[in-house]
Amino acid sequence: MIPLKEKLVEVVTASLDILFPPACPFCKKMTETADRFLCEECFSQLKFITTPYCSCCGRIFAASEENHLCGNCLKSSWAFDKARSLFSYEKIIAGLIHKLKYSGKTTGLETFRWLSEQSNLLQDFDAPDFILPVPLHRKRLRHRGFNQALVLAKSIFPGDRKKIRHDLLTRQANTPTQTGLSGIERRKNLKHAFVVEKPTEVKGRKILILDDVFTTGATVQECAKALKFAGANRVDVLTICRADKIFS
Ligand SMILES: [Zn+2]
Ligand SMILES: [Zn+2]
Repeated sequence: MIPLKEKLVEVVTASLDILFPPACPFCKKMTETADRFLCEECFSQLKFITTPYCSCCGRIFAASEENHLCGNCLKSSWAFDKARSLFSYEKIIAGLIHKLKYSGKTTGLETFRWLSEQSNLLQDFDAPDFILPVPLHRKRLRHRGFNQALVLAKSIFPGDRKKIRHDLLTRQANTPTQTGLSGIERRKNLKHAFVVEKPTEVKGRKILILDDVFTTGATVQECAKALKFAGANRVDVLTICRADKIFS
């Protein structure tokens, strides 16, 4: 039997859908079906990442038969074991992320949950012991009011709430924005920015880091370095989208 509270939520949601039909969070057009969190037109513009991509860093290859290591990963190694992103960077996904980060509202999270369910990339990961959203510095957190990586983690992994930890990794340095910086500048900017707060809890564990965008990978690299230094057994990375170039 459905508990009364859940039944009530169901009835209220259905009534709200009739009064205010769900609108596409990007273009505000009404969506046709209640389970669709983006209109057909916006959905068709999304670029889901599928094979072929670099088996380590997840970089997308334009023309290749199968997954292999990219030039970067052959030359140097990342501190993380594997990185994957759900989407290639384009205006719809960038717009949804921008809205989440800067509108001060966490509406639109259902869309991210729904979109992550449409991708099969999540199956690429071993089950983690902990899911760690990339932390914000406390000053930026105070300014924004919430950490977008934390709310995304809660939305994408609703069944793993206990694994989501925001107390294991903190950001000590309030680094200036990374936008417009090169890969080397980003790495310099972030050096020693992240600190593992409870190394004994991290030791020997499988960690999944979650962030919104992978650009040069400098942020997740610094997080992974700190976690591996603390003894993490494995560190994987999941980002919503990937903003680097597509390689042939
Ligand atoms: Zn739309
Ligand atoms: Zn690679």
